[in-house]
Amino acid sequence: MKNKKRSIVQAALCLTAAASLVISGGVVHAKGSTAAAKPATKAKNVILFVGDGMGAAQRDAIRLNTVGLNGNLQMDDMPYSALLRTHSTVAVTDSAAAGTAIASGVKTYNGAVGVDVNKKPVKTLLEVAKGLGKSTGLVTTSQITDATPAVFGSHVEDRSQQSKIAKQYLDNSKVDVLLGGGEDFWYPAGNPGKFEDHPAEDPTEESKGTEGNLVDHAKKLGYQYVTSKEELQKAKYGKILGLFANEEMFQQKPEGEGDVYNPVVPLKDMTQKALDTLSTNKKGFFLMVEEEGTDEMAHENNAKLTIKAGQELDKAVGVAKEFAKKHPDTLVLVLADHETGGFSLEPVDDKDESGDGISQEDGPFSIFGSKEQFYVDWTTSGHTGVDVPLTAMGSGAELFTGVHENTYVHDAILKAWGLKK
Ligand SMILES: [Zn+2]
Repeated sequence: MKNKKRSIVQAALCLTAAASLVISGGVVHAKGSTAAAKPATKAKNVILFVGDGMGAAQRDAIRLNTVGLNGNLQMDDMPYSALLRTHSTVAVTDSAAAGTAIASGVKTYNGAVGVDVNKKPVKTLLEVAKGLGKSTGLVTTSQITDATPAVFGSHVEDRSQQSKIAKQYLDNSKVDVLLGGGEDFWYPAGNPGKFEDHPAEDPTEESKGTEGNLVDHAKKLGYQYVTSKEELQKAKYGKILGLFANEEMFQQKPEGEGDVYNPVVPLKDMTQKALDTLSTNKKGFFLMVEEEGTDEMAHENNAKLTIKAGQELDKAVGVAKEFAKKHPDTLVLVLADHETGGFSLEPVDDKDESGDGISQEDGPFSIFGSKEQFYVDWTTSGHTGVDVPLTAMGSGAELFTGVHENTYVHDAILKAWGLKK
């Protein structure tokens, strides 16, 4: 295990050294490590994809399994790339602190949602977009009130306050489109809502809202409330609240013990609906789309479903790229908040297994288009402190080169909107 940890640090150092390279269509061009001072064009729309926990090795495993040795994922086939440092006030971040750094440009403590180290609210990109008259959306396969979406539309001292987060979406940040799981936090105990309490697939799930019936509250504020793929497709443009599961839209369990990644509404469909709706605003929009399976399946050291979740994220990125082709004033970013699992990609070799329990290697996985295979090995069921890759295309994408703190994403998006020099 010790050797493995050291090799991850070494890999991270190699990545850092390579970060001043921009990968474009598989060709590597040398570029300066400092970003351009000003974007060539102003971005009207921003679509920010977060693969939660999706480090460089996860992206490679998804790529090998999906498009093979010489292929490119949608998320990799972009003209600009950068590396982000992920530390919070400690070396290894959680999604709340990393998300707050990305959304608001400040480093804070783990668990903090949209607040700084003094627990003071810090303005988020979504709130800035609203101030510019843009429409806003949050989409995830996790609870819509989980840390990553929460940091864009709420301010609470602790990420566990999910009903408070939901209420702030409606009353304060007034997010136009909210799509994901987590119905349990929108209904008080005793009112199961659309999804029953204590279902067979996870008997621990039950309504536990602390802020009354927030679905009724949302309807009074003019939201269309939808709970299935069909209802979502039928929803008219305007404010939409879609809750599609009690908790996450998948079951994160140890491999072979009820683990399921099969969201009732695929991430790409939620992304398409959000884009169709938000793009009716002539002033543009800000949309954050998160794939959470890449983190939670990695916490279970479940490589098969980590890869599957990443493949679904890539399809959603494809939807956004299609939109950006037709609307060139759109910036598309794909990044991670941190790495999960100490995920490594290994050759087929019976003698190199070093872990046991859940950290045993997984595989073999096929390399698309060949007879070759690879294994995935793990060093932890938690997060790690390594840098994560970011790829970018569209208006203002040239700002995203070099090695940066994760707070840079916030600053550069403000630049892309013409708000910061
Ligand atoms: Zn995590």
